[in-house]
Amino acid sequence: MKSFDPCYFREQFPLLSTIDKAASEISSLVYFDNAATTQKPLTVINSQQDFYQQINANVHRASHQLSAKATLQFEQSRQLAQNFINAASIKEIIWTKGATESINIVCQSLARDVLSKGDEIVICASEHHANIVPWQQVAKQTGANIQVLPLTDSGYIDISQLDKVITQNTKFVACAHISNVLGRINPVEQVIEKAKSVGALTLIDGAQAVAHINVDVQQLGCDFYVFSAHKMYGPTGIGLLYGKQCLLEKMSPYQSGGEMIKTVSFNKPTTFNSLPFKFEAGTPNIAGVIGFGASIAFLKPLLTNQDKKYQLFEAKLKHYCFLQLRDIEQVEFLVSGEPDIGVIAFTIKGHHNHDIATALDTYGIAVRSGHHCAMPLMETLKLDGCLRVSLAPYNTIAEIDFFINTLKGILSGETLDDNNTVNAVDLKDIHLEGNSSKPTELAKIITLFSSTKGWDSRHREIMLLGKTLPRLEKTDRDEHSLIAGCESKAWLKSSMDKQGNYSFVADSDAKVIRGLLVIVLAAFNHKPAKEIAEFDVSAYFKQLGLLQHLSPSRGNGLLAIVDKIKELTSPSE
Ligand code: PMP
Repeated sequence: MKSFDPCYFREQFPLLSTIDKAASEISSLVYFDNAATTQKPLTVINSQQDFYQQINANVHRASHQLSAKATLQFEQSRQLAQNFINAASIKEIIWTKGATESINIVCQSLARDVLSKGDEIVICASEHHANIVPWQQVAKQTGANIQVLPLTDSGYIDISQLDKVITQNTKFVACAHISNVLGRINPVEQVIEKAKSVGALTLIDGAQAVAHINVDVQQLGCDFYVFSAHKMYGPTGIGLLYGKQCLLEKMSPYQSGGEMIKTVSFNKPTTFNSLPFKFEAGTPNIAGVIGFGASIAFLKPLLTNQDKKYQLFEAKLKHYCFLQLRDIEQVEFLVSGEPDIGVIAFTIKGHHNHDIATALDTYGIAVRSGHHCAMPLMETLKLDGCLRVSLAPYNTIAEIDFFINTLKGILSGETLDDNNTVNAVDLKDIHLEGNSSKPTELAKIITLFSSTKGWDSRHREIMLLGKTLPRLEKTDRDEHSLIAGCESKAWLKSSMDKQGNYSFVADSDAKVIRGLLVIVLAAFNHKPAKEIAEFDVSAYFKQLGLLQHLSPSRGNGLLAIVDKIKELTSPSE
């Protein structure tokens, strides 16, 4: 597909049309979480299947024809990757697990060796954790300090601050080409130029850029450029590190073992392989590399076509979605103005972002809520988290309309209506306990959910249960009662009666978490420590029909609640 055609493009992605309706209980899928990972086109899926079916063999080492074929395809992908970003040499393309591993390689194989006390590493305020934590680690190891480039009101790196932050002490500057939250194309050229003027090395995190803009590393002049295949229609678990050959030559290997060696002896020092193999210890992700090559072959012609239809269609979707969201009174964007790519972050006045994301999910609309692996950015913006809609050119205007209408419906209370009544049991006395003729809280919850079918109805019941949870006093919501590991803020306190039974009170900012808290507390309230320790919460959630529906972040939140209860009631406490 040389010239972009939206319908034909969408048809290339089987998951979008063949989602298993029966299993997922959603009648359609509106996938607006493309910044997390994109869907995969048939050409990528087939390339991996063909590899395993037709040429599966290890690369580089064997002397048989199958290995020669596998090696050829493997190395052809490297050529595609070199061409994709216009690297000067194929030796500059190192296969890694993804952007995260690529950054770790630079930090541990280079920065760790060259940094010393008082040196400075400059990163930007909107970085993904992948481009923060590896630098924090190496700073700790070497005594270097981290300096942060601030943002403008519209979410770009503030270049007016470059002279102040990037100084003679700066040894590394690492920043995202495009923020995964704000969707702004950062002025990386100016950042690189400034870094060069003080002799600092530069790493550009291109994880969110490569699916949207044509990248030329020689033109950018950066020392390192990193990205992952899975955000550009390729497989997960594979990505690359581009580095200037002169730097890669000097760097020590990241991992050691087979493939990365030239000679190994018990009597002489081991010598290392030449580039790029010096950084590719062990059997690589061969199918992943071949799939990565297929994704590049799929994407590159679209990105470079002079008609720019691919980029224009993306821009049209983004602009339309932005305008529609801007028209909703309660929507507040994180920064001013329209983003450069279809990554739109916002909060909704009076609603917790997790509640909105969970409600949208009941309509098959997949958006992201939370901190988006950019907790320092949320801290800067004084937010707990936000919603993020991220679009790809297989999305449609009709999907955006459906999303906007659904969102408006949710906000007008059509779906989370306060007047809705609970159908299966009378929840008025759900917290009354101790009368043996009455069913326990646990039994009531099980009865309620056993008569509730489908995720929509279960979600509704969770939201209604949330309303029955008494709110905690503000003074009780402190750092001691805070549940660590729950993405929405949640608090839990315990007390024990004379018989050794525990009671819990809890609260959360998010309605959906308040509902889950009612469900969890029903299982643990008024029980002794031993029963609490022995209760099988996974079986309970499975029985309620919730396990398969909870998103990973809600599932983790749930585990965090249970962990806190167990921590408070374990004998050592
Ligand atoms: N940087 C940015 C800007 C990202 O968006 C991501 C993924 N969300 C990463 C780095 C890390 O990528 P990966 O998890 O594929 O290593």
